[in-house]
Amino acid sequence: MHELAFVEGIVQQVKELKLFHRFNRVREIEIICGPYNSVSADNLEFVLSHLSDQCLNQAKVSVRRVISKYFCSQCALEFDDHDSIEGLCPICHSCRSVVEARRAPYIHKLEVEDEN
Ligand SMILES: [Zn+2]
Repeated sequence: MHELAFVEGIVQQVKELKLFHRFNRVREIEIICGPYNSVSADNLEFVLSHLSDQCLNQAKVSVRRVISKYFCSQCALEFDDHDSIEGLCPICHSCRSVVEARRAPYIHKLEVEDEN
């Protein structure tokens, strides 16, 4: 399963955050999954929800897939994937648009319980 590599990365990040911020465990974690990868949001959520890792155990997990966002370097318009054809700016039709959404899944929100 392709998602395992991403899960390992996310768990590693959570462990580093735990060390740095000294929290006890994660209450809720929200992952954003970019549009251009083969990661299944459902699989990612399943694997993360069934981890036996101490700090993520019993955490509420949600994975959200986002659509592409573009930024036109010609007229500075921000637009969504569905507003354009192949990334062309819907206003000035420039092809010099930049995709803004990140590809790999990343931690968007982390709710934690403090150490007492
Ligand atoms: Zn434009």
